[in-house]
Formats: sequence, structure tokens, C-alpha cells
Amino acid sequence: MSESLDSGPPPQAPTTPPRQRLAELRGPDARPRPLDARALAALAANPGCDRRALLDGAGVDKAALATALGSPAPFGQSQFAFMRGNAFEARVTSDGGAELMRLLGAEGPTGFALPDLAAAGPEGRTARTALALRQATADGVWTLLRHPLLALEVAGAPAYLEPDAVVVHPDGRWTVVEIKSFPMIDASADAAKVGAAARQAAVYVLALERIAAHTGGASVAESVLLVCPKDFSNLPTASVVDVRKQLSVTRRQLARLTRVEDIATALPAGVTFDPERPADELRAAVAAVPAAYAPGCLAACELAFHCRDRARRAGAVETLGRSVRGELGGLRTVGDVLAAARGTAGDPDDPAVAALRRAAALRAEALAALPAARTAPEELPEAAGCH
Ligand code: SF4
Repeated sequence: MSESLDSGPPPQAPTTPPRQRLAELRGPDARPRPLDARALAALAANPGCDRRALLDGAGVDKAALATALGSPAPFGQSQFAFMRGNAFEARVTSDGGAELMRLLGAEGPTGFALPDLAAAGPEGRTARTALALRQATADGVWTLLRHPLLALEVAGAPAYLEPDAVVVHPDGRWTVVEIKSFPMIDASADAAKVGAAARQAAVYVLALERIAAHTGGASVAESVLLVCPKDFSNLPTASVVDVRKQLSVTRRQLARLTRVEDIATALPAGVTFDPERPADELRAAVAAVPAAYAPGCLAACELAFHCRDRARRAGAVETLGRSVRGELGGLRTVGDVLAAARGTAGDPDDPAVAALRRAAALRAEALAALPAARTAPEELPEAAGCH
């Protein structure tokens, strides 16, 4: 769904430098919100949304913005889910990581190395992680890095990312390990949750690839190890998840983010997303950036309630889901769809319009048959005993 300001004077090109412009978009007193793996993964989940790309790239606090717009979204992990996740991870790694390594097939008399990654500050921790990865690759031994810290430059600023674990194989391969507390029942788990975990893990793989590019003999696996509770127990089980698709989407998204300044430059001068501004001003500012609402936004973006409300008011077919949107071809609103079905608009040669008219005719036929069935119940054999 795209929205744009359709009134007022034509946009004027701002004269401020792009970086300063991004700071103005946040508001004069707002510190940029750092991007984490969850936010980067959510970006990859909706690659067509300029609005989210701009707000995230500029470091705008979207939760505060949604509240200022009057549409706060209960978003993020619940405290209970957070605690359950921590408890399961502690259970999986309680033996120093031996069970985790066993799930990867790293059993043997030589065991595995477990380097200390403690260092001061994020820069120190990322440097320590890179050093440990290079050392483990050079040594050619199984190595478990628990909570390493990786850096990925996003839109010109570093984003710090902390996977649950990275395992270095003796052949120099690095594998990301994600520990999640949702259950894996009969070797399969909730597809939406696995998809979200795969997108998050793909961000870690991308960050690791930057280090591996400067490490002789290293390569990063394009599949990750997902560790979950087995069935309804607290026992860990693992599944290898191919993240190649998520990797290519995330790469594309990150490349787009470097063009965030272009999106900002195209906005009218003076537009800001400072949550301290009046709601009407913020609504106009948000509407000035094209969005791509989909029901999936409800699980991934703080602005979802606002965008859904706008999409519904515009009658946009995007509110019905991406697959329905795809089936409807060039029909953009619910009004267009109904008009096409009634035969008052639309090209009859358009397959979507033809299918809608067929469906409308079948529905009319079915409805026409209903009164007869209702008014003559005695003709139905089972009606005699039905009261
Ligand atoms: S909720 Fe709005 S801003 Fe967020 S991804 Fe969806 S359309 Fe974009």
C-alpha cells in the first residue's frame, strides 16, 4: 500500500547534508536507536517498505512514534517468553556447551575449545570475537563461541549483533547456532517462528561473512543450527535450517538501506518524525513516505496498527494478505474488486476480473437456491426429525 501527501505545495529539495537530514528526521534531542538483529530481520521480512527502511535507517524510535500517532502496538517479546527463552538456553548450555556440540556431531576424545570472549565495550568485544574466530580457524579444532559480538555496518553506522553461539568446525567452517524456546514437535516447528529465526540467523551469517572474508581458510555455513525443546519436554533437539533465501533478501535490504538518504532527500523540507511534535504533523510526515503494509507487519513492526488503519481506510487489498493481493493483479482497492465482480468496472479479459465475475455468478446462483430450501424443509429427508 502506498500513501503520499496529495495536497499542499510541491516538495522542496532540502538543502541540509544527508546525515544531518537523518538527525533532523529523528528530532533534535533524540539519540539514534541502534539496529539489532531482530530489527534487521524484520526489515528483510518486508523489503518493499520505504517507510520502515527510512525510520530504521534514521534511527527513529518507532514505538514512541506509534504512541505519538495514537496507535501504540503491543510489540516485542513478552516478559514470560523472554524468561522461558533464557531458562531454556541456560539448560542447553549448562554443561559448558557439551550437549550443544553433541547436537552438531562434535563428539570425540579431543573435546572442543571454549574461548573467553570478555572484553570492555562493544568494540572490544567484537575485536575479541574476531580474534577468537581467526585463532580457532588456524588451530583447526572444534570451537564454541558463546554469545560472541559481531558488528555489521548498516546505513553507515555499526549495528552490534549477538548470536546465541557460533561453532567453528575443524575444516574452518563457521556455523551460527540459534537457541529458541518454541517446541519442535515430531521434528517440525511452527513455520512462522522458524522463518523469523531464519531471518535473524541470516543477519548473523552476513556479519560473520565480513570477518571470514579476511580470514584464511574460513567459510560461513549458509545453513544454521536451530535448537529447540523436543516435543513437550525441556530436552534440546536440533534442526539444520537453510537460510540462503533469507540471506539474499537481507543483503538486498541492507543495500537499500544505504539509499535511505535518497529517500530522506526526496521528502519535503521540514518533515520530522520527532515524537514530541503534534500528532497531525506526525501523521502527515509518516504519510509522506510510501509504505507496503501486509498483515505480517503486525508481528514485526511497531507502526503496524497505524499502517493497518490507513490501509483499511484506503480500502487497500493489502490488508487481505500478500497472496490475495497477488491474485488480484491490478485491482488495488476492495471497491475496485467489488465493482469488477459486479461487472460495473474492470477489463473482462483480465484473468482476475474474469475469475471474480465467475465467483460472483456462482455465489448469486447459490443464494438464489437458498430460499427454496428454507421454505420447503419437508422436502429434505432429514428435516422430519430436526427441530
Ligand atoms: S507497519 Fe508500516 S512501516 Fe512497518 S513495515 Fe509495515 S507498512 Fe512498513
